[in-house]
Amino acid sequence: MSILEHKGVWVFAEQRAGEIQKVSLELLGKGRELADTLGTKLTAVLLGNNVKEMASELIYYGADEVILVEDELLDVYITETYTKVMSKIIKEKKPDIILMGATALGRDLAPRVSARVHTGLTADCTTLEIDEESKHLLMTRPAFGGNIMATIICPDHRPQMSTVRPGVMIKQERNEERQGEIIEFPSGLAKEDVNVEVIEIVKEEKQKMKIEEAEVLVSGGRGMRKKENFQTLELLAKELGGLVSGSRAVVDAGWMDREHQVGQTGKTVRPNLYLACGVSGAIQHVTGMEESDLIVAINKNPSAPIFELADVGIVGDVEKVIPSLIDELKSV
Ligand code: FAD
Repeated sequence: MSILEHKGVWVFAEQRAGEIQKVSLELLGKGRELADTLGTKLTAVLLGNNVKEMASELIYYGADEVILVEDELLDVYITETYTKVMSKIIKEKKPDIILMGATALGRDLAPRVSARVHTGLTADCTTLEIDEESKHLLMTRPAFGGNIMATIICPDHRPQMSTVRPGVMIKQERNEERQGEIIEFPSGLAKEDVNVEVIEIVKEEKQKMKIEEAEVLVSGGRGMRKKENFQTLELLAKELGGLVSGSRAVVDAGWMDREHQVGQTGKTVRPNLYLACGVSGAIQHVTGMEESDLIVAINKNPSAPIFELADVGIVGDVEKVIPSLIDELKSV
């Protein structure tokens, strides 16, 4: 079969308990751009049970059409059922590109689907572009421990599949005027296809706010010297209406929870303000925060790599600069 038969950009619309995951909306933003470059359609694929009302939401965020598969056997995510349905639609509709969020679900589903439809998968992409000449999807991701950025193509197979971490792409403005088509598709599932029984779903305790959603992040590195000094960062974050995050060094030292780690093996963040305190600016850290709007760095070493990226750099000791900043903020 010729790869030219494959057309269209798809985004797997991940939903959990009736809520579309933010990463899927971000991927619709990127998918819109790719589809426009290729002059093709952007399709969202929505699987679940009683999820129809979410389909229009996907159109408001950029999809031209939504393939909707509703079945009570898709009520909760089970690897085998979701893989089976996704593979079936892909084989029938032959998309050119499929994007999924690199979430726990996406990381489970994407490799299985790609194996089932005999194509490749590039995981954890940070950039996606169309090659002007060949029209292949250029999928860029960190490789060799983050020391290089590798651009990967999938020249001989279709669809071209990629997962992207939450927070990397930018969602479009929601626009209720947008029109699109909702195409209902049968799941083709039978009870015998379900080989797993979900006995109980234990919901994780909801955090007040996640670092990927914060508009201001005060991030501490090893230069903060000890766990107790993070209380000062908490005070600063409070004054600025933000959250505290950190480098892997501080997570490994046990000064901070892994949920708050920024970087290649942590979270990708894009706040309005990223204040890096005693963070050196290693590539694996920078990968997770370089898209922040305003980066302010405090470091006692004027040659620290973080200063190459920072919009504002303060050469100084965090133990002196941060208390003065807090005092200053309190006085305004
Ligand atoms: P350091 O590199 O030790 O830097 C501390 C900085 O504090 C220095 O620049 C120093 O000048 C400054 N400093 C010291 N004292 C003071 C003071 N009193 N006042 C002001 N400044 C001071 N790292 C991540 O962050 N996130 C990741 O997701 C991640 N993933 C990784 C994945 C792989 C495969 C590998 C190999 C590494 C990964 N790392 C990650 C680790 C990364 O390479 C760095 O080791 C780490 O980011 C360093 O953390 P740091 O900047 O806090 O510490």
